[in-house]
Amino acid sequence: MKNIISANGLKKIYHRGSEDVHAVDGINFDAAPGQMTAIIGPSGSGKTTLLNILGCLDNPSEGTLSVGGEEIFGGKNELSEKKLTGIRRRNFGYIFQKFYLIPTLTVLENIMLPSAFYRNCEVCKTPKEVLKQLGIENRAGHFPAELSGGEMQRVAIARALINSPKILLADEPTGNLDSKRADEIKEILRSLASGGITVIMVTHNLDLAKAADRIVEIRDGKIV
Ligand code: ADP
Ligand code: MG
Repeated sequence: MKNIISANGLKKIYHRGSEDVHAVDGINFDAAPGQMTAIIGPSGSGKTTLLNILGCLDNPSEGTLSVGGEEIFGGKNELSEKKLTGIRRRNFGYIFQKFYLIPTLTVLENIMLPSAFYRNCEVCKTPKEVLKQLGIENRAGHFPAELSGGEMQRVAIARALINSPKILLADEPTGNLDSKRADEIKEILRSLASGGITVIMVTHNLDLAKAADRIVEIRDGKIV
C-alpha cells in the first residue's frame, strides 16, 4: 500500500544558550492509510517534537517530509504558511492530552470552531455527525466544565474529525484518563483506523500501544 506519510532523515535541533539539543536526531518514518502506530519512549526523548513535525505544526532542521504524495519539507522551495495551513486542513486531525477545549463555549460550539476556518469544505462533517459518531450527542449544549475527562477527550476527538482527516495525530490521548475511559478511547481510535484513518499516537499507556499495528520506540531522538 502507498504511504500517506513519509519522512526521511528528520532532525530537529534546538539552540538553548550555548547548548544544541538534538530533539529529533535522524528519523525515518512511513505510515500507510489505516495504519495505527504507537510512539513510545521516555520523557524528553523527542516524541512530541516528532509528532509536531509529522503534523506540519513545526518544521524540521533537516530532512524531508511528504504527506499524501505532496512534498512539505525538504523541497527546493519552502512552503508558505498559507500552503502549510491548507495541507494541515486537508490532511490532519490533532488530539492533545490537555484537550484544549474553550471553557466559555458549549460542546457544539467547540466542535464548530474549526469549521469556521474552512471555506467551501466539501469533505467536512457536521458537528452533529461527529458528536453522534463519538456517542456524545446528548452533551451538545453542555460546557466543558460539566463533562467528565472521558467525555472531554471524546469532544476533542470529535473536533479533530470535523474535516474528515486522513491522518489523526494524538499526543498522549489517554494521559488524563482513568483506565476504563482510556479503554474507550483506545476502541475509538482503533475503529477510526479500521475505517481507513492513519492514526499516529504518542502514549505511555502500554495497553493502548499494544492495540496499535506497530510500536515505534524513541530514545534520544532516535528510533531504537
Ligand atoms: P517528549 O515528548 O518525548 O517528552 P519532547 O519532544 O517534548 O520530548 O522534547 C525533546 C527534547 O527537546 C527535550 O530535551 C526538550 O527539553 C527539548 N525541547 C522541546 N521543545 C523545545 C523548545 N521549544 N526549545 C528548546 N528545547 C526544546
Ligand atoms: Mg511529549
